[in-house]
Amino acid sequence: MQIYADNAATTKMSRAAIDAMLPYLDKVYGNPSSLHSAGQRASEALVAARERIAGILGAKPQELTFTSGGSEADNQAIISAAKMGEKSGKKHIISTAIEHHAVLHTLKKLENEGFTVTLLPVEPVTGLVTPQQVADAIGEDTALVTVMYANNEIGTVEPIAEIGAVCRERGVLFHTDAVQAAGHLPIDVRVQNIDLLSLSAHKFGGPKGVGVLYARRGVRLTNLIEGGAQERGKRAGTENIPGIVAMAAALEESAAHMDEASAHLIPLRDKLIAGLARIPHSALNGDPDKRLPGNVNFCFEGIEGESLLLLLDDKGVCASSGSACTSGSLDPSHVLLAIGRVHDVAHGSLRLSLGTDVTEAEIDYLIAAVADVVSYLRGMSPVWRDLQTGKRAYIL
Ligand SMILES: *Cc1c(COP(=O)(O)O)cnc(C)c1O
Repeated sequence: MQIYADNAATTKMSRAAIDAMLPYLDKVYGNPSSLHSAGQRASEALVAARERIAGILGAKPQELTFTSGGSEADNQAIISAAKMGEKSGKKHIISTAIEHHAVLHTLKKLENEGFTVTLLPVEPVTGLVTPQQVADAIGEDTALVTVMYANNEIGTVEPIAEIGAVCRERGVLFHTDAVQAAGHLPIDVRVQNIDLLSLSAHKFGGPKGVGVLYARRGVRLTNLIEGGAQERGKRAGTENIPGIVAMAAALEESAAHMDEASAHLIPLRDKLIAGLARIPHSALNGDPDKRLPGNVNFCFEGIEGESLLLLLDDKGVCASSGSACTSGSLDPSHVLLAIGRVHDVAHGSLRLSLGTDVTEAEIDYLIAAVADVVSYLRGMSPVWRDLQTGKRAYIL
């Protein structure tokens, strides 16, 4: 069996997105800035895609800026809000310890430029932050609150509408990284009190390398890329028309089938969670209920996530782990540490992010494959032997 269970890393493109994209590769390939008819046809496609995406988000078309993806949208949102705040002497930013690196590294850069950043701690295990925590952290000099809609590792869905309401009441800009939420959870920027929002096409069946930054009317964007006057002068560079058209089709499709997808995924996700919980000395990471429909994340004591992934790959399962071994560092995930997992336990983590077309037979296979591999690895782990002989105490 072959099971791709790494949809939080990227999804396959939906048929609708591919079909929408193809004509813009070799038929309607004009530059939308050109005055001739070929350019105008591309320009019309750009206008239409912007209107369709705005409609789904509850935004106005002029409030959307197309970017190269989620990372760029996060960078531009945060830097723009910081620069706006700085003009009125506000140099404090509030965020959480579990944000994506596109957010955390941008905040680090601003700290080096003299901003103060408060990273709110999250609740142990669930990873939830509360609107009250945000309210308590807001001061006179707070320019921005940035809290992700749903976490990419542990799947926790944060109370962003309530956090947005607190920010609105206190006159502070609110940004949310909605990259994991878009296409999977409802978004309405007005109802949810969102001033700035990032999304990325390749997390909901669109192509890689294209995303959206929503900025409410009145929020002044700072350019990250200078050049031509594309995107109302806020993001230079010839527009990625095939990508943008495909993103609109993918978002439309996933929004139209969101309820169905959740109804299909949630029981299967919960079956997978229940199955993996039967493995001794294991623990679910993230909230059991306030959770992305396709996300499962576990820690297994006494093993290394990296070996787990390689052996699962041999069994046809593409998954992901929380440790950043691939990037040459042995540091476990900042998200798992932030929810209170100690280093040893955080190293034995596994994320399975399900595609909307996953079947019950595949869930059964995943449960059996993970149980097999965990017991095999424990059989040759000196740490596991120490735990069993009582030389070391179990944490989970
Ligand atoms: C994937 C992801 C990003 C980055 O998006 P790219 O389009 O890959 O740059 C940012 N935030 C979250 C939560 C993500 O899951």
